[in-house]
Amino acid sequence: MEEKKIKNEEKRSLNFIEEIIEEDIRNGKNESRVHTRFPPEPNGYLHIGHAKSICLNFGLGKKYNGKTNLRFDDTNPIKEDVEYVDSIMEDVKWLGFDWEERLFYASDYFEQLFEFALILIRNGKAYVCDMTAEEIAETRGTPTRPGIESTYRNRSIEENVELFQKMRRGAYPDGSKVLRARIDMASPNMHMRDPVLYRILHASHHRTGDQWCIYPMYDFAHGQSDSIEKITHSICTLEFEVHRPLYDWFIREIGIYAPRQIEFARLNLSYTVMSKRKLLELVKEKNVNGWDDPRMPTICGLRRRGYTPESIRNFADIIGVAKRDNMIDVSLLEFCVREDLNKHAHRRMAVLNPLKVVIDNYPEGVVEDMEAVNNPEDDNMGKRKVPFSRELFIEQEDFMENPPGKFYRLAAGKEVRLRYAYIIRCNSFIKNHETGKITEIHCTYDPLTKSGMPDSGRKVKGTLHWVSAGHAIKAEIRLYDRLFTKENPDDMPEGQSYKDCLNPESLNIISGLIEPEILSSRILDKYQFERIGYFSVDKDSTPQNLVFNRVVPLKDSWAKMEKNKEI
Ligand code: ATP
Ligand code: MG
Repeated sequence: MEEKKIKNEEKRSLNFIEEIIEEDIRNGKNESRVHTRFPPEPNGYLHIGHAKSICLNFGLGKKYNGKTNLRFDDTNPIKEDVEYVDSIMEDVKWLGFDWEERLFYASDYFEQLFEFALILIRNGKAYVCDMTAEEIAETRGTPTRPGIESTYRNRSIEENVELFQKMRRGAYPDGSKVLRARIDMASPNMHMRDPVLYRILHASHHRTGDQWCIYPMYDFAHGQSDSIEKITHSICTLEFEVHRPLYDWFIREIGIYAPRQIEFARLNLSYTVMSKRKLLELVKEKNVNGWDDPRMPTICGLRRRGYTPESIRNFADIIGVAKRDNMIDVSLLEFCVREDLNKHAHRRMAVLNPLKVVIDNYPEGVVEDMEAVNNPEDDNMGKRKVPFSRELFIEQEDFMENPPGKFYRLAAGKEVRLRYAYIIRCNSFIKNHETGKITEIHCTYDPLTKSGMPDSGRKVKGTLHWVSAGHAIKAEIRLYDRLFTKENPDDMPEGQSYKDCLNPESLNIISGLIEPEILSSRILDKYQFERIGYFSVDKDSTPQNLVFNRVVPLKDSWAKMEKNKEI
């Protein structure tokens, strides 16, 4: 009974792609094989939208005991680069996926694709057209008006074969001829109106060098590459739904194995742009400091910021797959990383806005090692020592001269607990009368209230983090905010672009003080600075100059701290 219930629930939670795959498996389609692929074009760095696609494709491969290929759709030598190829491989691996020996390139199939084109020509299904790109665009018509047939459409098969072979041999300059499919200039689907299959491009390709001067269009390469690799489920984003009749036409006319294309909605994140063109623009125009700027939605940016692969995989899982375009709130991504780091990040105390505290009744020159747990969620992460002494720093915001009613932090005459240490009482403070700023507060501590002692006695409402003035390590702290101020930067009023809503406050660099244990940190190590947020060691960090990126602020920290827990 119980087992049955669980099984039903499992069934209900299948997404529509899994439903299709399971049905194909049940029907024995493709001998019940599942073979997917992730097919990036190496013309930019991967972003969180690609991560969604990676998790989906590799996830399905794993779930159904199948295989997943990594294939570079490298048909456009002008925009592509090995730098991108390398970064894409690094990102896929980092996300935790393995293409094993199945690394492919569309450019590996150039010869085969050329042969496919010849088949179409020989069957009267493709022709060489001498029209310019502009003429082709002008004669395409509109969705409601049919296009005009090219005057070259009725060239003989022999002439087409010869011209196409001469195109390949380099007999013609760029743009002077193209190979087009011969389908239907009146089709309601614009993609079926004699689309271009090959163009002349005397450009070096990052893999094939100068071997080719004609290159297949993406549409002519993509479906056939899937077919060559015997992909069973070719998963892509919704904009390719209208290309599907064309892909099916190629497969049918060439007479090769037919993968099944399934479209899902691309991921859109609020306060983010995801188009590679726009991301490249931000990099080139130096609105950000490179592709891996921690404010970028790129995978390398998220990695540098301190996101973990687990958190991104979990995010991809939670958002699931949709059939309609929608916008996911970026706070869901933040939630996922917070949840993961909460479980795995070591706690440290850091003060970002220091206010000096002198404990007047604490002996000078004495240092006590206080015991602090590294992660209250996981005892296995152990403990550390935090030095306590007469002079400390707390956060400016944790002291108020005239506190409102429910201020459970420090004020003259009030008591708080210093985390892992003692209860202190504030007796007086020093104020700079010119600036109005409090510069130092004087307190006394109660030696009977040491944390962890059998009966530490009194309880107080607030607990503050602190660092010992003589032991704290100075560090550069980079606080990030959203890169854009508008929820949908792609949807700006007339005459404005996404760049008009760049957030001028998206990076704020401050200097902070951290407990000395932090010296053992290494690049990409992640921490929770108690009551502040999650931080990750930046790649610019050195032992002499520690640099931290704020991954996310800590939400709900107050709610937790004020439950009067004494740790
Ligand atoms: P381009 O405009 O250069 O084609 P692209 O974002 O489509 O950009 P590709 O390299 O072609 O980039 O994408 C590789 C794969 O990632 C494709 O299968 C694509 O459908 C998928 N993908 C790209 N962007 C998203 C997104 N925002 N959400 C989900 N999947 C995406
Ligand atoms: Mg694409």
